[in-house]
Amino acid sequence: MSILVVGSVALDTVQTPSGKVSDALGGSAVYFSVSASYFTPVNLVAVVGRDFPERHVKLLNKHGVDTSGLQKVKGKTFRWKGHYMHDLNQAHTLDTQLNVFADFSPELPEKHKGSKFVFLANIDPVLQRKVLSQVRRPNVVACDTMNFWIESKRKELIKTLKLVDILVINEAEVRQLAKEKNLVKATKKIFAFGPKALVVKRGEYGALFFTPKHIFSVPAYPLENVVDPTGAGDTFAGGFMGYLAKCGKTDERNLRRAMIFGSVMASFNVEDFSLNRLTALTKAEINKRFEQFKKLTHFDLIK
Ligand code: AMP
Repeated sequence: MSILVVGSVALDTVQTPSGKVSDALGGSAVYFSVSASYFTPVNLVAVVGRDFPERHVKLLNKHGVDTSGLQKVKGKTFRWKGHYMHDLNQAHTLDTQLNVFADFSPELPEKHKGSKFVFLANIDPVLQRKVLSQVRRPNVVACDTMNFWIESKRKELIKTLKLVDILVINEAEVRQLAKEKNLVKATKKIFAFGPKALVVKRGEYGALFFTPKHIFSVPAYPLENVVDPTGAGDTFAGGFMGYLAKCGKTDERNLRRAMIFGSVMASFNVEDFSLNRLTALTKAEINKRFEQFKKLTHFDLIK
Protein backbone atom coordinates (compact mmCIF):
# COMPACT_ATOMS: atom_id res chain seq x y z
CA MET A 1 0.00 0.00 0.00
CA SER A 2 1.23 3.48 -0.79
CA ILE A 3 1.72 6.25 1.76
CA LEU A 4 0.58 9.84 1.54
CA VAL A 5 2.93 12.34 3.18
CA VAL A 6 2.68 16.07 3.78
CA GLY A 7 5.63 17.98 5.24
CA SER A 8 8.43 20.35 4.42
CA VAL A 9 10.49 20.25 1.24
CA ALA A 10 13.47 22.38 2.04
CA LEU A 11 16.83 23.81 1.16
CA ASP A 12 18.96 23.32 4.28
CA THR A 13 22.16 24.99 5.38
CA VAL A 14 23.75 22.77 7.99
CA GLN A 15 27.02 22.83 9.91
CA THR A 16 28.30 19.88 11.95
CA PRO A 17 31.77 19.08 13.34
CA SER A 18 32.35 17.18 10.03
CA GLY A 19 31.70 20.14 7.70
CA LYS A 20 29.04 22.31 6.14
CA VAL A 21 26.48 22.22 3.31
CA SER A 22 24.52 25.19 1.96
CA ASP A 23 21.06 25.08 0.34
CA ALA A 24 21.21 21.28 0.26
CA LEU A 25 18.12 19.15 -0.35
CA GLY A 26 16.25 18.54 2.90
CA GLY A 27 12.89 18.84 4.59
CA SER A 28 10.87 16.48 6.71
CA ALA A 29 8.78 15.16 3.81
CA VAL A 30 11.85 14.58 1.64
CA TYR A 31 13.75 12.50 4.19
CA PHE A 32 10.55 10.61 4.98
CA SER A 33 9.69 9.94 1.32
CA VAL A 34 13.08 8.67 0.23
CA SER A 35 13.37 6.45 3.30
CA ALA A 36 9.85 4.99 2.89
CA SER A 37 10.39 4.51 -0.85
CA TYR A 38 12.62 1.49 -0.13
CA PHE A 39 9.49 -0.27 1.18
CA THR A 40 6.47 1.13 -0.65
CA PRO A 41 5.38 3.82 -3.16
CA VAL A 42 5.06 7.33 -1.68
CA ASN A 43 2.78 10.22 -2.68
CA LEU A 44 4.13 13.60 -1.63
CA VAL A 45 2.09 16.74 -0.89
CA ALA A 46 4.07 19.96 -0.39
CA VAL A 47 5.08 23.25 -1.97
CA VAL A 48 8.34 24.65 -3.30
CA GLY A 49 9.31 27.97 -4.84
CA ARG A 50 10.56 28.61 -8.35
CA ASP A 51 14.13 28.47 -7.01
CA PHE A 52 13.81 24.74 -6.24
CA PRO A 53 16.20 22.83 -8.52
CA GLU A 54 14.43 20.46 -10.91
CA ARG A 55 17.15 17.83 -10.29
CA HIS A 56 15.78 17.35 -6.76
CA VAL A 57 12.30 16.57 -8.15
CA LYS A 58 13.89 14.11 -10.59
CA LEU A 59 15.74 12.45 -7.71
CA LEU A 60 12.46 11.97 -5.82
CA ASN A 61 10.81 10.54 -8.94
CA LYS A 62 13.73 8.17 -9.42
CA HIS A 63 12.88 6.81 -5.99
CA GLY A 64 9.28 6.16 -7.02
CA VAL A 65 7.98 9.24 -5.17
CA ASP A 66 4.84 10.58 -6.90
CA THR A 67 5.26 14.38 -6.97
CA SER A 68 1.91 15.26 -8.59
CA GLY A 69 0.93 16.82 -5.23
CA LEU A 70 4.11 18.94 -5.08
CA GLN A 71 3.14 22.49 -6.08
CA LYS A 72 5.74 24.83 -7.54
CA VAL A 73 4.70 28.45 -6.96
CA LYS A 74 6.10 31.98 -7.19
CA GLY A 75 8.36 32.71 -4.24
CA LYS A 76 11.18 31.07 -2.33
CA THR A 77 11.44 27.50 -1.08
CA PHE A 78 11.27 26.80 2.69
CA ARG A 79 14.73 27.21 4.21
CA TRP A 80 16.17 25.89 7.44
CA LYS A 81 19.56 26.76 8.88
CA GLY A 82 20.95 24.74 11.78
CA HIS A 83 24.11 23.58 13.43
CA TYR A 84 25.28 20.80 15.71
CA MET A 85 28.07 21.15 18.22
CA HIS A 86 29.78 18.12 19.77
CA ASP A 87 26.46 16.78 21.07
CA LEU A 88 25.06 15.51 17.80
CA ASN A 89 21.71 14.74 19.44
CA GLN A 90 20.94 18.41 19.73
CA ALA A 91 20.14 20.50 16.64
CA HIS A 92 20.37 24.25 17.13
CA THR A 93 18.09 26.14 14.78
CA LEU A 94 19.68 29.35 13.53
CA ASP A 95 16.93 30.35 11.11
CA THR A 96 13.59 29.06 9.79
CA GLN A 97 12.11 30.76 6.71
CA LEU A 98 8.65 29.40 5.90
CA ASN A 99 8.57 31.30 2.57
CA VAL A 100 6.07 29.54 0.24
CA PHE A 101 4.72 27.45 3.15
CA ALA A 102 3.27 30.62 4.73
CA ASP A 103 0.41 30.76 2.15
CA PHE A 104 0.25 27.11 1.17
CA SER A 105 -3.17 25.58 0.74
CA PRO A 106 -2.74 21.88 -0.02
CA GLU A 107 -5.06 20.38 -2.64
CA LEU A 108 -4.89 16.61 -2.86
CA PRO A 109 -4.95 15.13 -6.34
CA GLU A 110 -8.09 12.93 -6.60
CA LYS A 111 -6.00 9.74 -6.81
CA HIS A 112 -4.51 10.41 -3.34
CA LYS A 113 -7.80 10.90 -1.50
CA GLY A 114 -8.27 7.17 -0.90
CA SER A 115 -4.85 6.76 0.80
CA LYS A 116 -4.87 4.26 3.67
CA PHE A 117 -1.53 5.19 5.26
CA VAL A 118 -0.96 8.88 5.96
CA PHE A 119 2.10 10.53 7.47
CA LEU A 120 1.82 14.13 8.66
CA ALA A 121 5.51 15.02 8.69
CA ASN A 122 6.82 17.99 10.61
CA ILE A 123 5.08 21.15 9.32
CA ASP A 124 2.43 23.61 10.51
CA PRO A 125 -0.27 21.54 12.29
CA VAL A 126 -2.97 23.51 10.42
CA LEU A 127 -1.55 22.26 7.12
CA GLN A 128 -1.35 18.74 8.51
CA ARG A 129 -5.09 18.90 9.24
CA LYS A 130 -5.93 20.45 5.86
CA VAL A 131 -4.35 17.45 4.17
CA LEU A 132 -5.93 14.90 6.47
CA SER A 133 -9.42 16.38 5.99
CA GLN A 134 -9.19 15.53 2.28
CA VAL A 135 -8.40 11.85 2.82
CA ARG A 136 -11.55 9.72 2.84
CA ARG A 137 -11.02 6.90 5.35
CA PRO A 138 -7.37 6.31 6.28
CA ASN A 139 -6.41 3.16 8.24
CA VAL A 140 -3.33 4.59 9.92
CA VAL A 141 -2.50 8.26 10.53
CA ALA A 142 0.91 9.02 12.00
CA CYS A 143 2.31 12.44 12.78
CA ASP A 144 5.57 14.19 13.66
CA THR A 145 6.18 17.69 14.96
CA MET A 146 8.94 19.74 16.63
CA ASN A 147 9.62 22.36 19.31
CA PHE A 148 9.03 25.17 16.78
CA TRP A 149 5.33 24.15 16.40
CA ILE A 150 4.84 23.07 20.03
CA GLU A 151 5.84 26.61 21.04
CA SER A 152 4.17 28.62 18.30
CA LYS A 153 1.00 26.58 17.51
CA ARG A 154 0.29 24.45 20.56
CA LYS A 155 -3.54 24.68 20.36
CA GLU A 156 -3.58 23.82 16.65
CA LEU A 157 -1.20 20.93 17.27
CA ILE A 158 -3.43 19.49 19.99
CA LYS A 159 -6.39 19.70 17.58
CA THR A 160 -4.39 17.74 14.99
CA LEU A 161 -3.36 15.14 17.57
CA LYS A 162 -7.03 14.24 18.16
CA LEU A 163 -7.03 12.77 14.65
CA VAL A 164 -3.73 10.89 14.95
CA ASP A 165 -3.12 7.17 15.69
CA ILE A 166 0.67 7.20 16.11
CA LEU A 167 2.72 10.20 17.19
CA VAL A 168 6.42 10.03 16.25
CA ILE A 169 8.47 12.67 18.11
CA ASN A 170 11.74 13.05 19.95
CA GLU A 171 12.23 12.72 23.67
CA ALA A 172 12.64 16.41 24.50
CA GLU A 173 9.50 17.21 22.52
CA VAL A 174 7.48 14.58 24.43
CA ARG A 175 8.38 16.36 27.65
CA GLN A 176 7.71 19.80 26.17
CA LEU A 177 4.33 18.80 24.71
CA ALA A 178 3.16 17.03 27.88
CA LYS A 179 4.69 19.66 30.19
CA GLU A 180 5.99 16.73 32.24
CA LYS A 181 9.62 15.79 32.96
CA ASN A 182 9.15 12.07 33.53
CA LEU A 183 8.96 10.33 30.17
CA VAL A 184 6.53 7.56 31.18
CA LYS A 185 4.14 10.01 32.81
CA ALA A 186 4.50 12.30 29.79
CA THR A 187 3.42 9.54 27.39
CA LYS A 188 0.23 9.05 29.44
CA LYS A 189 -0.60 12.74 29.07
CA ILE A 190 -0.05 12.50 25.33
CA PHE A 191 -2.35 9.47 25.00
CA ALA A 192 -5.05 11.68 26.52
CA PHE A 193 -4.60 14.08 23.54
CA GLY A 194 -5.62 11.33 21.09
CA PRO A 195 -2.76 9.13 19.80
CA LYS A 196 -3.01 5.41 20.60
CA ALA A 197 0.72 4.83 20.24
CA LEU A 198 3.86 6.86 20.57
CA VAL A 199 7.29 6.47 18.96
CA VAL A 200 9.87 8.34 21.02
CA LYS A 201 13.10 9.03 19.12
CA ARG A 202 16.16 9.37 21.32
CA GLY A 203 18.99 10.12 18.87
CA GLU A 204 22.08 8.02 19.54
CA TYR A 205 20.23 6.29 22.39
CA GLY A 206 17.70 4.65 20.08
CA ALA A 207 13.92 4.75 20.23
CA LEU A 208 11.01 3.62 22.39
CA PHE A 209 7.57 2.48 21.30
CA PHE A 210 4.74 3.05 23.78
CA THR A 211 1.12 1.99 23.80
CA PRO A 212 -0.99 2.32 26.96
CA LYS A 213 -0.16 -1.39 27.59
CA HIS A 214 3.30 -2.11 26.12
CA ILE A 215 6.76 -0.61 25.83
CA PHE A 216 9.34 -1.76 23.28
CA SER A 217 12.88 -0.44 23.19
CA VAL A 218 15.44 -0.42 20.36
CA PRO A 219 19.02 0.84 20.48
CA ALA A 220 20.56 3.02 17.81
CA TYR A 221 23.08 1.23 15.60
CA PRO A 222 26.55 1.96 17.03
CA LEU A 223 28.36 3.99 14.36
CA GLU A 224 31.94 5.19 14.34
CA ASN A 225 31.27 8.15 12.06
CA VAL A 226 28.21 10.33 12.45
CA VAL A 227 28.50 13.09 9.87
CA ASP A 228 25.12 14.85 9.91
CA PRO A 229 22.10 13.91 12.06
CA THR A 230 19.71 16.17 10.10
CA GLY A 231 16.62 14.28 9.02
CA ALA A 232 17.34 11.22 11.18
CA GLY A 233 13.91 11.49 12.80
CA ASP A 234 12.07 11.80 9.50
CA THR A 235 14.13 8.98 8.03
CA PHE A 236 13.25 6.83 11.04
CA ALA A 237 9.57 7.61 10.46
CA GLY A 238 9.98 6.69 6.76
CA GLY A 239 11.39 3.25 7.56
CA PHE A 240 8.78 2.71 10.28
CA MET A 241 5.73 3.71 8.21
CA GLY A 242 7.15 2.31 4.98
CA TYR A 243 7.43 -1.14 6.49
CA LEU A 244 3.94 -0.96 8.06
CA ALA A 245 2.40 0.12 4.75
CA LYS A 246 4.24 -2.68 2.96
CA CYS A 247 2.75 -5.21 5.43
CA GLY A 248 -0.65 -3.51 5.28
CA LYS A 249 -1.30 -4.16 8.96
CA THR A 250 -0.14 -2.91 12.34
CA ASP A 251 -0.08 -5.93 14.66
CA GLU A 252 2.54 -6.02 17.38
CA ARG A 253 5.04 -8.18 15.43
CA ASN A 254 5.00 -5.77 12.51
CA LEU A 255 5.19 -2.73 14.77
CA ARG A 256 8.32 -4.14 16.42
CA ARG A 257 9.94 -4.89 13.06
CA ALA A 258 8.91 -1.42 11.87
CA MET A 259 10.80 0.08 14.83
CA ILE A 260 13.92 -1.79 13.70
CA PHE A 261 13.54 -0.70 10.08
CA GLY A 262 13.15 2.89 11.33
CA SER A 263 16.42 2.55 13.25
CA VAL A 264 18.16 0.92 10.28
CA MET A 265 17.20 3.74 7.90
CA ALA A 266 18.11 6.49 10.39
CA SER A 267 21.51 4.87 10.99
CA PHE A 268 22.33 5.12 7.27
CA ASN A 269 21.07 8.67 6.96
CA VAL A 270 23.47 10.13 9.53
CA GLU A 271 26.51 8.72 7.71
CA ASP A 272 26.57 11.64 5.23
CA PHE A 273 25.17 15.14 4.63
CA SER A 274 21.73 15.84 3.18
CA LEU A 275 20.28 12.80 1.36
CA ASN A 276 23.61 11.61 0.00
CA ARG A 277 23.69 8.28 1.83
CA LEU A 278 19.97 7.65 1.77
CA THR A 279 19.67 7.99 -2.00
CA ALA A 280 22.60 5.63 -2.62
CA LEU A 281 21.33 2.67 -0.56
CA THR A 282 20.55 -0.84 -1.74
CA LYS A 283 17.91 -3.18 -0.34
CA ALA A 284 20.68 -5.69 0.41
CA GLU A 285 22.42 -3.13 2.68
CA ILE A 286 19.14 -2.44 4.47
CA ASN A 287 18.42 -6.11 5.06
CA LYS A 288 21.97 -6.76 6.24
CA ARG A 289 21.77 -4.01 8.86
CA PHE A 290 18.34 -5.32 9.93
CA GLU A 291 20.02 -8.67 10.66
CA GLN A 292 22.83 -6.92 12.54
CA PHE A 293 20.17 -5.38 14.78
CA LYS A 294 18.93 -8.86 15.60
CA LYS A 295 22.44 -9.85 16.72
CA LEU A 296 22.89 -6.57 18.58
CA THR A 297 19.80 -7.05 20.71
CA HIS A 298 19.44 -10.83 21.08
CA PHE A 299 19.98 -12.55 24.42
CA ASP A 300 18.90 -15.89 25.91
CA LEU A 301 16.88 -16.35 29.06
CA ILE A 302 18.74 -17.98 31.99
CA LYS A 303 17.76 -21.63 32.51
P1 AMP B 1 14.98 16.17 11.83
O1 AMP B 1 16.47 16.27 11.93
O2 AMP B 1 14.50 14.76 11.57
O3 AMP B 1 14.26 16.82 12.95
O4 AMP B 1 14.53 16.99 10.53
C1 AMP B 1 15.29 17.99 9.95
C2 AMP B 1 14.55 18.55 8.75
O5 AMP B 1 13.39 19.24 9.22
C3 AMP B 1 15.38 19.53 7.98
O6 AMP B 1 15.64 19.01 6.69
C4 AMP B 1 14.55 20.82 7.93
O7 AMP B 1 14.42 21.34 6.63
C5 AMP B 1 13.20 20.42 8.47
N1 AMP B 1 12.65 21.43 9.39
C6 AMP B 1 13.32 22.20 10.30
N2 AMP B 1 12.48 23.02 10.95
C7 AMP B 1 11.24 22.77 10.45
C8 AMP B 1 9.92 23.29 10.72
N3 AMP B 1 9.71 24.25 11.64
N4 AMP B 1 8.87 22.79 10.02
C9 AMP B 1 9.08 21.82 9.12
N5 AMP B 1 10.27 21.29 8.81
C10 AMP B 1 11.34 21.75 9.46
